[in-house]
Amino acid sequence: MLILVVNCGSSSLKASVVDAASGSVVAKVKIERIGEVVPDHAAAIEHALESLVTDGLTLRGVGHRVVHGGEEFSRPTLIDDEVVAKIEALTELAPLHNPANVEGIRAARAALPELTHVAVFDTAFHSTLPNRAKHYAIPGEIAQKHGIRRYGFHGPSHGYVAARAAEFLETDLSELRIITCHLGNGSSVAAVEYGRSVETSMGLTPLEGLVMGTRSGDIDPGAMLHIARKEGLDFDALDKLLNRESGLRGLSGVSNDMRDIEERAAEGDAPCRMALNVFAHRLRKYIGAYAAVMGGVDAIVFTAGIGENSALMRHRAAQRLDYLGARIDEDANRDARVDAESPVVEISTRRSRCSLLVVATNEAHAIAEGAAHVILDKDRVETNRVIPLAISARHVHLTQEAVEGLFGEGHQLTVHKMISQPGQFACIEKVDLIGPKRNIEGVRVLGPTRKACQIEISRTDEFHLGLDAPIRNSGDVKNSPGITLQGPKGRLTLTEGVIQARRHIHMQPEDAAFFGVEDRDVVEVEIDGGGRDLVFGDVLVRVKSSYLLEMHLDTDEANAANVVRGQEGLLVQTGEGVRLRRKN
Ligand code: ADP
Repeated sequence: MLILVVNCGSSSLKASVVDAASGSVVAKVKIERIGEVVPDHAAAIEHALESLVTDGLTLRGVGHRVVHGGEEFSRPTLIDDEVVAKIEALTELAPLHNPANVEGIRAARAALPELTHVAVFDTAFHSTLPNRAKHYAIPGEIAQKHGIRRYGFHGPSHGYVAARAAEFLETDLSELRIITCHLGNGSSVAAVEYGRSVETSMGLTPLEGLVMGTRSGDIDPGAMLHIARKEGLDFDALDKLLNRESGLRGLSGVSNDMRDIEERAAEGDAPCRMALNVFAHRLRKYIGAYAAVMGGVDAIVFTAGIGENSALMRHRAAQRLDYLGARIDEDANRDARVDAESPVVEISTRRSRCSLLVVATNEAHAIAEGAAHVILDKDRVETNRVIPLAISARHVHLTQEAVEGLFGEGHQLTVHKMISQPGQFACIEKVDLIGPKRNIEGVRVLGPTRKACQIEISRTDEFHLGLDAPIRNSGDVKNSPGITLQGPKGRLTLTEGVIQARRHIHMQPEDAAFFGVEDRDVVEVEIDGGGRDLVFGDVLVRVKSSYLLEMHLDTDEANAANVVRGQEGLLVQTGEGVRLRRKN
């Protein structure tokens, strides 16, 4: 599956055609000095496509690197006009990057309108950061108003190298605590705890954290204020100072390039030695901090230009990590070379409890993988059609007689809000269920009234109440257990009526024709449960022209599949196209 990967910077464009499965690069091109040599991003894209897209090359889609996804985007996302507008709106948070990303997306969509375009965000991998790591200690009002929090960057790289490390260690990512050190021109560290990013050194912008080529990384905010006052700097000048004139360049006074710094330091240049010391010290500090955050560490990964190539910096960073069980093998470190062929090399000793690894990052591959995943999902959904899921919490249907017994003579049910199936509504009225063992208070009544009372609860509720209810279709309460209901005006003991609703799908005749099923068929439905995928069997199909396409699950079922609001299910496919796996 070939994906065109587009990485649009403010004045440069990197584009490559990547095989999403293997990561092998079929073709690539880099266009620099946009605005000078080429007039704009559209022209750059045009140039790039001319040299990349040759006869016989079939692209399946385009993956765009987007730096800032804000609160909105926590995974690779199919691009439409609305998504483009949202990325553009995030420009405030990433003024240097997002506008160029949007330019690239616009130009590529115009040039390749027939292809699916996917945005892959730098921030998305860190959307799992817990609140305690996300928040700055500033007034909540201001933070909320402007989206000020820690987002983190280099997501595709951290995610990618963590996954490669897990493969190398032949251990599932969900069992590993990994510290990934992405050390390039921009540098960041991430704590990847059991597959999820729980801390990372970059924050609202890519300025926080490690010492970088030209960025300061961490600095006392008070120092910024002080410098601005003393030097008479305005915001733009301060921005320039911290983003472009600091870091290795600022410390060394000569270069932002680690190779130059190392060379000069070896010759005895004091500022360059200092630059190396500060860089390494900050990195070691973060490694220790992240081990503390995760309560230990199983692997430390070095990646990107410096991480992959600088044996000296790895040596410095890995000093005195014995307390973490990490021991560097100096020979292996000196000899370590990674490339596409052998992307992982271990540089820890055999006795090291924590593995030290050099891993070749491949952001283009990570972006291609992300885009391919979205494209495959889209194809699947288009040929299958998804079924909206509705979660039914425990509820009660009542006869008019029961309503009056519980809420007073002449009482009519009052609408709280309409629910998805036409004519049905949740009522303001609630009752308590009095079970043999325990009670459940405040159970919602659903209207309108029915010919028989019916109490629909989950298996967990049954254990709580101390009764054993059968799984039944709605309306079939014969020989089911009874229960006592308590309302504000009275108590009612039923001899039958408690059931667990059989899982079912409501659909219209057109839906049934599309899926190739009939009323009362029993089918299977597959749910992508975000780590708890599940195929539900024994799902009853109910067809009626007044129904809305929807599958109903009770709370136990929904929780078992990690169903969240707005999620959808897929009728399981058999060989020939969109048929269900049929049981009856
Ligand atoms: P970017 O963030 O621009 O993708 P890279 O990941 O390519 O950056 O990393 C660039 C950094 O890697 C530079 O500081 C460069 O000096 C450093 N680097 C590359 N090769 C070596 C090397 N052999 N020894 C030390 N540093 C190196």
